[in-house]
Amino acid sequence: METLVLGHREVRALLPMAECIDVMAAALSALARGDAVLPLRSVVAQPDRRGFLGLMPSYLGEPRAIGVKVVTVFPGNLGTPYESHQGAILIFETENGRLLAVVDAGTVTEIRTAAVSGLATRLLARPDATSLAILGSGTQAGVHLEAMRAVRPIRDVRVWSRTEAHGRAFAERHGARFAPSAREAVAGADIVCTVTGAQAPVLEGAWLSPGAHVNAVGASVPPYRELDSDAVAGSRLFVDRRESALNEAEDVRVPIREGRIGEDHIAGELGDLLLDRVAGRTDRREITLFKSLGLAVEDLAAAHHVYARALAGGAGSRLELTGKRHG
Ligand code: NDP
Repeated sequence: METLVLGHREVRALLPMAECIDVMAAALSALARGDAVLPLRSVVAQPDRRGFLGLMPSYLGEPRAIGVKVVTVFPGNLGTPYESHQGAILIFETENGRLLAVVDAGTVTEIRTAAVSGLATRLLARPDATSLAILGSGTQAGVHLEAMRAVRPIRDVRVWSRTEAHGRAFAERHGARFAPSAREAVAGADIVCTVTGAQAPVLEGAWLSPGAHVNAVGASVPPYRELDSDAVAGSRLFVDRRESALNEAEDVRVPIREGRIGEDHIAGELGDLLLDRVAGRTDRREITLFKSLGLAVEDLAAAHHVYARALAGGAGSRLELTGKRHG
């Protein structure tokens, strides 16, 4: 049997941001309904700490598929020709376990991560939110700008980045304003996205304005951390998945260890919001926070969407990899 191979170009063409936001809503609803199997990911760190390999398997009931993302994360790739996230998503069908597709994981990760933040923002930010602060200026910063513009009428964008030249270049490329400090970027912002590789807080709760919404995205495995404990304790907190947040998010685990919050500070998962099991923003002055870890069902759903569209449109290349019995 033939396996479809879908690279960067196909994923970009077949996974527009607005479409991906809806695909993420469907996947996270399925997860909340119990129509998915999602173990915690396995992470193998290189002894030299240069990078790690993540293994993210899952099963999804709708669209029905079973699969795995295998991805390396090498933060030091910034400034090299290589992305920090590289790998493949393998999609199998669920009758005979045939390998349907191999899909570029870097591009899917890029788009689905920002799409999930877009979904969280659609669900939690004030409808009239127009100003955006982005902390970080790498790959996720760019796609987050696209995602925020897809869900809110963004008119003012301020960006701060650890390396001033990177922040200035990003601002110029995207028609944003450069802020010399994270605090100045965040002051007065309706929406804040943290998309850095920081291991110590880059965002303090004291800087946030009443009614702000925060998407905290950069720190998806220990020891990475972007938010101070005030930012978390002072917000109505939502996550992509409770189990992942409690095991993998230092942004949440540190304030719990400090006794600033309990596990019940997590108001719910995005899926709970989508199924109306829990209230989202309760008033205009409340600060809402979405802590993103990144889930294998998001990868599988996004990759499957690309696969289905590629199949319908004849895109991608075909390989005879495996499948039939021989003799
Ligand atoms: P890039 O390598 O493209 O960009 C990294 C960014 O982080 C740069 O803007 C860099 O700033 C900044 N940065 C790195 N180290 C520090 C530090 N110590 N303090 C402050 N800023 C720092 O990465 P991506 O944009 O692809 O990813 C950004 C983060 O998001 C990563 O940590 C990644 O692991 C995480 N991520 C999370 C996902 C999720 O599902 N939650 C999915 C994908 C990524 P500068 O260039 O100015 O030095």
